[in-house]
Amino acid sequence: MTTPISISRTAILDRIQARAKQANRPASDICLIAVSKQQPDVRIKEMLETGQSVFGENRVQEAQKRWTDTFADKRGPLELHLIGPLQTNKAADACRLFDVIQTLDREKLAKALVKVRDNEGELPRLFVQVNTGEELQKAGIIPSKLDSFIKTLRTVYGIEPEGLMCIPPAFTQYIGQHPGQAPGPHFALLNKMADANGLKNLSMGMSADFEPAIDFGATHVRVGSALFGPRL
Ligand SMILES: *Cc1c(COP(=O)(O)O)cnc(C)c1O
Repeated sequence: MTTPISISRTAILDRIQARAKQANRPASDICLIAVSKQQPDVRIKEMLETGQSVFGENRVQEAQKRWTDTFADKRGPLELHLIGPLQTNKAADACRLFDVIQTLDREKLAKALVKVRDNEGELPRLFVQVNTGEELQKAGIIPSKLDSFIKTLRTVYGIEPEGLMCIPPAFTQYIGQHPGQAPGPHFALLNKMADANGLKNLSMGMSADFEPAIDFGATHVRVGSALFGPRL
């Protein structure tokens, strides 16, 4: 038996509230993004019925099918976040669908976005993704290049991001012989970099680590499996 979505959602919201309180922060400063990627339609429908209005997706095409086709009639008031890597050839489609793109991480993509802005007159809200663990397989700009990237966005492209996003290295107690990395230092680093660049929002924390992320100032937590159950 799977837990009803309304119950898992209430449980997550309670945990956010408790952790915010413990961290001396207003819970209203923390936005729960329900990560609906690879979830069956019945679970999405259940989630929509709870009143959840903020959703995250990692693939443009999958998200288009879900939110402009299957659930097109529900799209109106929702806030959709792209949290997966964005190819430049999908930039226009992504801008049309999403309210927020969290994965701006390179100049080539900034150029593509500016082109969309020239055509459409506006852009979605933007976060810059930082590869805090400097992992080769992961998207995101590396920390040492962040300050100059933000400066370039502002001065060359006229883009003002509203925050930073990160996905720390997978944390398991021991990976073979090697201890995994705890996420805390990655969250602390993202917080510090946002501060240094005058950016107010921090998208960090997933099912396994949204509570420590709240300690380090997360304003957006991206929770998938803990809300919906395992992905398809
Ligand atoms: C899938 C995904 C999530 C949600 O992961 P869960 O562990 O299921 O909560 C959050 N952020 C990003 C970028 C993801 O791709």
